[in-house]
Amino acid sequence: MRNRLQRFMMGRYGIDKMSQVLSVCSLILVALGIFLRISAFYWIGLILIGYIYFRMLSRDIPKRYAENQAFLRHYYRLTGWFTGKKQSMERNKGYHIYKCPQCKQKVRVPKGKGKISIHCPKCGTDFIKRS
Ligand SMILES: [Zn+2]
Repeated sequence: MRNRLQRFMMGRYGIDKMSQVLSVCSLILVALGIFLRISAFYWIGLILIGYIYFRMLSRDIPKRYAENQAFLRHYYRLTGWFTGKKQSMERNKGYHIYKCPQCKQKVRVPKGKGKISIHCPKCGTDFIKRS
């Protein structure tokens, strides 16, 4: 049985990162479609599953490989954006971000100091804010 499967998969593309991510997405879509009764989600999820199988069984390996590379570029940009956001949120914990009324420069001040005068480092404007 295992041998048969191996022979069947010979020369075929198989599973890559793109398939893994897409299969998670498709399962979420199908589940959402069922729970929220949105048939469009359900069908898109099913089509996505069909597409994953098509890629997995495809014999056009260079093309699938190129697809995966293009996918990964977007994927890492997106996940990088999220971790960047998270890191900057952690950095700014305990701080308030105010915009200078004059030049819109963002100024970071510590929280919980009451009313303070903020000096803009860019244009030198002083403005009063509650921190
Ligand atoms: Zn300013």
